[in-house]
Amino acid sequence: MAIRLTDSLSRKVRELQPGSPDGKFRFYNCGPTVYGPAHIGNFRTFVVNDLIRRLLELEFGADNVIHVRNITDVDDKTIRRSREENRSLSEVTGQWIDKFHRDCEALNCLPPTIEPTATSHIGDQIAMIAELIRKGHAYATPEGSVYFKVASFPEYGRLSRLKERELKLGATVKPQDRDADEKEDGSDFALWKAWKPEDGDIAWDSPWGRGRPGWHIECSAMSRKHLGDTIDLHTGGVDLLFPHHENEIAQSECCTGKPFARHWYHSEHLLVDGKKMSKSLGNLYTLDDLTAKGFSPAAIRYALLAGHPRKQLNFTLDSLHAAEKALATLRHYRERLPETGGSPDTFAPVFEALHDDLNTPAALGALFKVVNHGTEGVDRAGFDRVMFALGLRLDDEPRVEIPPQIRELAEKRWAAKQQKDWPTADALRAEIQAAGWQMLDRRDGYDLQPLKA
Ligand code: AMP
Ligand code: ZN
Repeated sequence: MAIRLTDSLSRKVRELQPGSPDGKFRFYNCGPTVYGPAHIGNFRTFVVNDLIRRLLELEFGADNVIHVRNITDVDDKTIRRSREENRSLSEVTGQWIDKFHRDCEALNCLPPTIEPTATSHIGDQIAMIAELIRKGHAYATPEGSVYFKVASFPEYGRLSRLKERELKLGATVKPQDRDADEKEDGSDFALWKAWKPEDGDIAWDSPWGRGRPGWHIECSAMSRKHLGDTIDLHTGGVDLLFPHHENEIAQSECCTGKPFARHWYHSEHLLVDGKKMSKSLGNLYTLDDLTAKGFSPAAIRYALLAGHPRKQLNFTLDSLHAAEKALATLRHYRERLPETGGSPDTFAPVFEALHDDLNTPAALGALFKVVNHGTEGVDRAGFDRVMFALGLRLDDEPRVEIPPQIRELAEKRWAAKQQKDWPTADALRAEIQAAGWQMLDRRDGYDLQPLKA
């Protein structure tokens, strides 16, 4: 059964198939902006994309999937951070690229086939901008910036239903931001930004003077360079639909005269208390925040996958407790399975659900139906295929961070016990319990476990 996925452009659920005769599936996923740690809202998007990547590999073969995920390592935010910290841009972005890679690895996201950075593709971006000017879709200003002429591309707004939204907004529609006076039209967007003093030494030479590329052109240029004019799938979080992806379509199609992406997919946001998890709202959790609480990255991945990717998901710590429990069940189930001899169809309903527009809640339901039914007819090979698809690492047990004061009390109690000072040992045990921890004695030592909430 083919992978079926909602296409944001046609609003239909359509099959994913490679469009090129070489049989390679070309997949572009907008990547992170690297000026701080990604939060688990960002990781919801990256984990969902990793699920797509894994399903594509199972469907078409690992060698036939070309997955490109870019890194935005120059923009207003990265430049501002480098100024604030008085460090070079590449020092700042290098630090956060490393951190992003470590977090992706912890969350068991497969590395993309190619991971291009914006700063190493400045020439490709300049070439594309020059081509857009040549073809009458862009213009340079006397200040040395270049803008895309939105009016030159009548299809502009198709992906995000801009016209419908404007019609709905009617008279209440706000005038476009006109602060950039040089634009011929308020809706035109920057392809090249002329150098400004706050950019410091971050600038490249171009036919229009020193400056830097706008954000949108990087994805058009890198996608074209690494995947060609037409790609099979382009993805990102819903907030990228407009203007980012709308602008990418305009730039790419005006350059090549060909359709840019055959399929568009946007996954929904992670919320906290009903609001989008975001840096600006300050309501975010990073991976480190959660592992410091003792949760395993596998549980975080599980919790991010437990909600349907096309529905908003409210993040709670309870969902992580539930995820740890589910993973423990899966871990123990696997231990009881024989290596081979299972029926190949046992997990078909799990894959059917995943192939049906990434219906992860239904897939997990189908998985636990098998698990609850027992081990008959199931083997590790079949089970591990499901774990691969979901990217669940079962050896990733929760690591509990023991607070130093608890550790100290436990050491004191252990010493009291060695001296057979039972009243002190009992009093200390009670104190440890009152602080939410349990001491489990072994012959040669002890374990500490948090008491269940
Ligand atoms: P950024 O690093 O800001 O460019 O974002 C990287 C990715 O995270 C993009 O695909 C965004 O759409 C996505 N994203 C940002 N906030 C959230 C959120 N709260 N939930 C899910 N995805 C998000
Ligand atoms: Zn992009």
